[in-house]
Amino acid sequence: MSPNHPQNRRVFLKQLGSLGLLTTLPASLPAAALPASPNLTPAAKNRAPLAPNAFYPLPLAHIKPTGWLRDQLTLQANSLSGHLDETWPDVGPNSGWLGGSGESWERGPYYLDGLIPLAWQLEDARLIAKAQKFIDWTLNSQAPSGLFGPATNDDWWPRMVMLKAITQYYEHSLPTKEDPRVLPLMARYFAYQLAELPKRPLRDWGKFRWQDNALSVLWLYNRTGDPRLLDLVRLLHTQGYDWVAEFANFPYKERITAEYLKLDQDQGLKDLALATHGVNNGQALKSGPVWSLLSGSSADRNGTENMLAALDRYHGLPNGMFSCDEHLAGPNPSQGSEFCTVVEAMFSLEQALAITGSPALGDRLEQLAFNALPGTLADDMWSHQYNQQPNQVECSLLHKPWTTDGPESNLFGLEPNFGCCTANFHQGWPKFSASLFMASPGIDGQVNGQIEGQVEGQLNGQLEGLAALAYAPCQVNTTLRDTPIHLTQQTNYPFSGAIRITVSPAAPLSFPLSLRIPAWAAGATLSVNGQPQPAPAPGTFAKITRLWKSGDRVELTLPMEPRLVPGFHGSVSIHRGPLLFSFPIGESWVKLRDRGLTADWQIFPTQPWNYALAATTPKEISTHVGDLGPLPFSARHAPVHLQLQARKLPAWRAEDGVANPLPQSPVTSTEPLETITLIPYAAAKLRISAFPQLQQTT
Ligand SMILES: [Zn+2]
Repeated sequence: MSPNHPQNRRVFLKQLGSLGLLTTLPASLPAAALPASPNLTPAAKNRAPLAPNAFYPLPLAHIKPTGWLRDQLTLQANSLSGHLDETWPDVGPNSGWLGGSGESWERGPYYLDGLIPLAWQLEDARLIAKAQKFIDWTLNSQAPSGLFGPATNDDWWPRMVMLKAITQYYEHSLPTKEDPRVLPLMARYFAYQLAELPKRPLRDWGKFRWQDNALSVLWLYNRTGDPRLLDLVRLLHTQGYDWVAEFANFPYKERITAEYLKLDQDQGLKDLALATHGVNNGQALKSGPVWSLLSGSSADRNGTENMLAALDRYHGLPNGMFSCDEHLAGPNPSQGSEFCTVVEAMFSLEQALAITGSPALGDRLEQLAFNALPGTLADDMWSHQYNQQPNQVECSLLHKPWTTDGPESNLFGLEPNFGCCTANFHQGWPKFSASLFMASPGIDGQVNGQIEGQVEGQLNGQLEGLAALAYAPCQVNTTLRDTPIHLTQQTNYPFSGAIRITVSPAAPLSFPLSLRIPAWAAGATLSVNGQPQPAPAPGTFAKITRLWKSGDRVELTLPMEPRLVPGFHGSVSIHRGPLLFSFPIGESWVKLRDRGLTADWQIFPTQPWNYALAATTPKEISTHVGDLGPLPFSARHAPVHLQLQARKLPAWRAEDGVANPLPQSPVTSTEPLETITLIPYAAAKLRISAFPQLQQTT
């Protein structure tokens, strides 16, 4: 259902009421809401001979969302994510991952990969019970050979996903009930893989997604130190697709068509189709950094940034995504990006950021989390798209701009086009929440930034610290050198640039706190207990090393001036902080069909959208900031509006529900000057995000 449809608004408001979301919530829970536990297990570090990470993910139970982020996860738990098994047979009681005769490939594992962090982040007993059924079946499914999972399907690929799911389960269940079945199952399965892969090598999806397998092997190696696990990582790399080599000389610079791929001659499983496949590219963003842990190569370590540079250049869109509908589709903002690619790219960025410590990857992670992720979901999170477009003027069956996807791809529904995204989207918010803070080795030179305060000499080089990799309200309960630390982050970011972090160690403790300063944040300010600190440099981690005492307060203010960013055909997009802003086109939601607990929807525009912008500088944009409402990524509750002047451009039209490619800017128009209002991208389900620019008349 959609709240934008009048018939559903009453139901939707009732749902919100039952969630307690109709009243304005505080930006964060009280600082003492979760007491620090003395039994917390610290993050696992890389064992020799692996290269060190810049940051180590905290055990997932150590970090919890608060404020608007907790509301978002709660909404997710109470909508399709929390009820999918009740309405979609592919993850229902007959799933092969529950021992049934139903779907036995990737859909069960995909669902668990998001359901587990969602359930345990919220400590939601109902969702934990749902996840536990799949986990228990999986952990008890191992054959004497070492293979686990549905016996009817021995594909390597779905097991790569389930391994990610059960490693999260293991970390989430700490410290109270570390499940003793997890590590032995993984050890036996990896021994099976090491023996079996030479006879039955990686193929198609598994070949192009080998790094997701390697990630779990490295996770186990850091806990057991068994050197045969490194042999397995080397074998996976040898059999897997070499993404770093492809992007060293990137060949796919044009929109990839079905004719180019000769899709009529196979099922899209040839290397050419798989190398240009959006989700494969999203998953591969971490490929170089993951392999760099063993190779030690800087080319591998920089692999994510090299991939992003090429994808941005030839297929980049203003929402931070690359086009992929289903294959790389060029820079026209009327092309789409698949939802699976958004959440897989986010997970890759979280992993690559931990390994490399590159602050630019945190900028990109926020850009996807605050724009492309909520932009693909209906406000009530009961329906989603397969493909989203930055310039999305209609979501209907008429709509066929996709390079290889079907006509339902940008409808909002249960499983538009194909059900992979229905199974896979759940990981987006909860893994983002779990990645806001990580542990840092605290070794000088590993993290760029400034050092302030005194470090005790004998501890220098050994200190462990904490790092804020992305910003959203949350709290952390962890330990550093056996001292429990409670930390809260209170903020309305990304809608506001004011961030307050309160640090409360159980006893005074020296450690570095590193804060990512986004590249766009020129003029950011930083203070500790009201004392101004040196101005932090954009595009770095600012590091504050001091003797922290309970209640110490760090205030970070990131400037939120609007920015004009150039794009396709001389167009311009408006950004403010990590948010992209769009012109919201009036929407008419029309139900196509009921789908069990939910429905499939078309959306038709109710007003013109073909505006060209007169503004050329931030000074010509006025900003209006209101209170943070219950659903900040919805049009009705969008807390920030931007206003600027524009003229309609009659020559720029839509055909079959698709905005024609933007005319080359600058453009001219004799239509009257109007003031238009932009809202955050994700709040506008029909929208213009890349605008032509008017010729200046002076
Ligand atoms: Zn998908």
